[in-house]
Amino acid sequence: MRKMATIRKIDSIRPIEGADAIECAIVGGWTVVIKKGDYAVGDLAVYCEIDSFIPTSIAPFLTKPGHYAKEFEGVEGERLRTVKLRGQLSQGLLLPFTAAMAIQIGAGPGAKFEDYIGVDVSDLLGIKKYEAPIPAILAGEVKGMFPSRIPKTDQERVQNLSVEFGQWVEEELGWEVTEKLDGSSMTVYFMDGEVGVCSRNLDLKHNVDNSLWRAAYKNELPAKLTSIGRNIAIQGELIGNGIQGNIYKMRDQDFYVYDIYDIDAGRYFTPAERQEFVKAHNLNHCPIVAYNAKLFDTLGISRVEQVLKFAEGKSVQGDAKPEREGLVFKCSTKQVSFKAISNKFLLKHGD
Ligand code: AMP
Ligand code: MN
Repeated sequence: MRKMATIRKIDSIRPIEGADAIECAIVGGWTVVIKKGDYAVGDLAVYCEIDSFIPTSIAPFLTKPGHYAKEFEGVEGERLRTVKLRGQLSQGLLLPFTAAMAIQIGAGPGAKFEDYIGVDVSDLLGIKKYEAPIPAILAGEVKGMFPSRIPKTDQERVQNLSVEFGQWVEEELGWEVTEKLDGSSMTVYFMDGEVGVCSRNLDLKHNVDNSLWRAAYKNELPAKLTSIGRNIAIQGELIGNGIQGNIYKMRDQDFYVYDIYDIDAGRYFTPAERQEFVKAHNLNHCPIVAYNAKLFDTLGISRVEQVLKFAEGKSVQGDAKPEREGLVFKCSTKQVSFKAISNKFLLKHGD
């Protein structure tokens, strides 16, 4: 589960040209517009990431005057989106770190400033990750939980990895860069003689009317995996008509692989192994933007900002050529990966 609200240190404060009531606070790889003077460099604060659903009870000011608050899982509140204020991109929300919170966290007597950094306070504040309701054709009937031997497909945002990221640049690691497709996560596995299909969080009952099972059959995955006979999971994105906004303007739906997991060995295929497998078994792969790229280092702009700029661009999926959702970076040699979502895409699609 992603940490939506964590205690962080304000890394720096930056003015916004032409604005005297507001300024920017920088927290890791994130930039948030704040009221001038609300926070100072070095302060501890609660940083809530975009897509957090913030209860009205802790931040009533998020609901515009004259509007009703939204509702999610029975709670009134607002979802944090990417916005531009006076031309400045702002992502997330800062809330004060209070003495009451420190007591509830209970870092113990004599706790130091640093002991609070990184503490997840999402539950304490009732903050959840907003998830759009899943359309019926995708939902399907549930067979069980997501298999515990297979990792889920989540990716961490580069903005939360600014420290690790610095080290990876230093190590001169190579990265496979693929386009992040905007659809629905799908896993097809073969495990101990049985084929299964899962959505992001659930194992789905066999049903040929379900979109995910249909896509598995379209790619002949049940037959292919059975004849290969290895315990593996093929993970990819189901995109097309009726899924998200179908930004690729596809008439049908199809499945694009981005990961293969070797269940017995407990590791992912390397990008090279995966690409070879996809070719050998005639599957679709997510568009590959670079095979073994080094993370570049340009002076004057932070590394996270560089990657975010790189994430902006046109999709190469299909003929519609929409603004792409972003990029996913997977190390060619180590099992580390992250996503960089295009801010252009976020501003356009409001999520
Ligand atoms: P998000 O949808 O923002 O939670 O980002 C993580 C999801 O991106 C994963 O669960 C995948 O379903 C999806 N995804 C789409 N394209 C890719 C890709 N090329 N590599 C990895 N994940 C991808
Ligand atoms: Mn997605």
